[in-house]
Amino acid sequence: MAQNTVVVVGAGVAGLTTALLLSKKPGYNIVVAAKHMPGDYDIEYASPWAGANYMPVSVRGTEAAEWDKNTWGCLEDLAQNHPDAGVHFQECEIHSRAKDSGSATATWFAELLSPTPWFKGVVPNFRTLPKNSLGPGIDHATVFTSVCINTAIYLPWLVSQCLKNGVIFKRAVFSHISEAASPGIHPSKKVDLVVNCTGLMASKLGGVEDKSVVPARGQIVLVRNDAGKMLDISGTDDGDGEACYIMTRAAGGGTILGGCYQKGNWESQVDPNLAVRIMKRAVELCPALTGGKGIEHLDIVRHGVGLRPVREGGTRIEKEKIDGVWVVHNYGAGGAGYQSSYGCAQAAVALIEDALQARARL
Ligand code: FAD
Repeated sequence: MAQNTVVVVGAGVAGLTTALLLSKKPGYNIVVAAKHMPGDYDIEYASPWAGANYMPVSVRGTEAAEWDKNTWGCLEDLAQNHPDAGVHFQECEIHSRAKDSGSATATWFAELLSPTPWFKGVVPNFRTLPKNSLGPGIDHATVFTSVCINTAIYLPWLVSQCLKNGVIFKRAVFSHISEAASPGIHPSKKVDLVVNCTGLMASKLGGVEDKSVVPARGQIVLVRNDAGKMLDISGTDDGDGEACYIMTRAAGGGTILGGCYQKGNWESQVDPNLAVRIMKRAVELCPALTGGKGIEHLDIVRHGVGLRPVREGGTRIEKEKIDGVWVVHNYGAGGAGYQSSYGCAQAAVALIEDALQARARL
């Protein structure tokens, strides 16, 4: 069988999932080429910083909701049948305060906060919590079974699955997307198609320079304390760009306390005042974290900052020819890169097959 040669640019969750799904099909020789690889922590590399959980905020009836929906079954399968992937089931509580209605976070979370979100029939055990079980100031809450991904295990696991299927990994930094098709990148010396999974940096990469991709800065605190469940709330009393969420990663990964959603902010350094607010809010929302004691009883592993690659108009999954080379884009997933990963990668793989079949017919 003739082999199609493909270079995937980017080794975040988008690039790795796309490479993995493509590597399961016959007839592909794949190279993943990226500046950052699993194991690296860098402000230009969002994937290691994510919680990461499945908590859809996509709007009912959109492509984004379809991608999230198509991803659930794959994550559920990983949690059920592949403990080595570092994904586990966890109950996820979504708390709403009426006073947050209309705020930036509540607007972003609108579907998630709904008592009847589109994913009600997708995730297991969706239900509304009884009013008398809610904490002070909480007007409504839902709960469902979700997953939490330990990204420090899951990203290397994706690499290992790709390696098993013959994918080659190499470090490379491109200033223009067409450089990924240059002779030195793929061992076959010719490249049939390039997949662009460069996340936020698609805003700066030559040939793409998508100015509708902007950072939404997220700051987190990783602690050893266990919350026992995931929690999220519709808003905080500390301003529009701030949020409060808690999730315990699989397999000893610790608990992530977040956070914020600061659009347009590229700052890579931890804001210590924000870190204190994050910890205070988390302990207030989930006193069990510290056995009812204060934030000084949080056992901190590290503070972190990541930039969500937000694209106005949503994730770009499209094909186009750039300088005579077929390019399939899969970037701009914002705060949903994991929970939409399989749906987006399936859509990207369908476009890769389309483009290569069209090329074969010429
Ligand atoms: P990235 O992970 O940024 O990867 C980009 C890749 O492209 C890297 O390998 C980089 O080196 C490479 N690259 C870029 N430019 C070039 C170039 N010029 N040359 C060569 N290589 C290049 N999502 C969820 O689903 N659930 C969550 O709970 C969640 N929580 C989050 C919490 C925080 C604090 C943050 C910051 C994000 C969170 N996200 C979550 C969002 C998720 O992390 C992102 O959507 C996802 O990681 C984006 O992945 P990506 O592969 O598109 O980009």
